[in-house]
Amino acid sequence: MKHTILLIEDNEQNLYLATFLLEQNGFDVIPARTGPEGIELAGRIVPDLVILDIQLPQMDGYAVARALRQNPTLKDVPIVAVTSHAMVGDRERTLEAGCNGYIEKPIDPDTFRSQIEEHLKTRPTSGGTEP
Ligand code: MN
Repeated sequence: MKHTILLIEDNEQNLYLATFLLEQNGFDVIPARTGPEGIELAGRIVPDLVILDIQLPQMDGYAVARALRQNPTLKDVPIVAVTSHAMVGDRERTLEAGCNGYIEKPIDPDTFRSQIEEHLKTRPTSGGTEP
């Protein structure tokens, strides 16, 4: 069964690259270009994983992560933050906001898949019957 990934990213080039890599690896990708759009879609489709850009207009990724975690339906959905910040403490900040992991930009096509799959391992596919 295919995993569905919600990709919240405002930059068209990053969105294109990440979508390409994910689809190439057999994932279904649903794009969102703003935080509010991502939150609305997440509640509706309950994705298997969320990839969340931290630098978004209006509502940043930290606020989006906190909002996603406030929805009980989404409490177990892994959230992987993506950020080009290289500041000490950013990783901790994303984890505090409710993210499960952190990928630094620019995305590395060679490791992106394994970074994502690491967070899917703990989660059966939706509707799955795994024990
Ligand atoms: Mn951005």
